[in-house]
Amino acid sequence: MKVIRLYMNNRLRNFNYIIGCEKTGQAIALDPLDGEAVLSAAKAEGWQIKLIINTHEHHDHIEGNPTVQAATGAPIWASEHAIGKIPNVARGLIANEVFELGSMVFKVLPTPGHTPVHVCLLTVSEKNPILFSGDTLFNACAGNCFNGGNVDQMYETFKAVLKPLPDETILYPGHDYMKTNLGFSLVWEPNNEDTTYWQRSVESLQPNDMPYMTLGQERLYNPFLRLESPSLIAKLEASGESITSSRAVFTALRSRRDKW
Ligand SMILES: [Zn+2]
Repeated sequence: MKVIRLYMNNRLRNFNYIIGCEKTGQAIALDPLDGEAVLSAAKAEGWQIKLIINTHEHHDHIEGNPTVQAATGAPIWASEHAIGKIPNVARGLIANEVFELGSMVFKVLPTPGHTPVHVCLLTVSEKNPILFSGDTLFNACAGNCFNGGNVDQMYETFKAVLKPLPDETILYPGHDYMKTNLGFSLVWEPNNEDTTYWQRSVESLQPNDMPYMTLGQERLYNPFLRLESPSLIAKLEASGESITSSRAVFTALRSRRDKW
């Protein structure tokens, strides 16, 4: 498997992914926004796009579908709950189903929260699993819940779906927000040396050069994965939040991030 990450250079800072099987040349276009860019990147690899998959229904994750489909004939797959919300979905993906393309094997993770129909893809054919997290988990943050989402569902997704994933899982998020998010992390854990280290490490990098982080690394600085951190809880309480549970930490952080 080889993954091409394309930075869209747009206001929303989307990443598009083309996931290719190097043995068969079959590929998946994930959340295509700039269809032409996706097509030319696949062509440069000698790949044939066999599937278009959308993590969720937001326009910046589906807008390139028609262009890619017109050129390749690839069917569109998305959550079964996205049928009717995303045009021309040919197959509704069911929670935890496993599918193959070439030598690549993926599991569909149901991850509601950013929107009710959101799914993530997890590779099960790679030595180190890869998580294509769409707008659920970003570097140093969680996705927002103010555009059709629900923060309680997002918390449940983090707890039930993301938390059990192993540290060596590599994160491929839907947007390049890492620099901004590390700034937010530092507001709530100003003495976190890992956050400071990574902020310094990435501050001069261009989007195409941003590192691929593991969940183990994210767990060191992503506040949404650090709900039990005593310093984080103390900081939230000092700012007037009433913290009685991990859910309360998550909800308070998401609310603060919306206003930040
Ligand atoms: Zn979105």
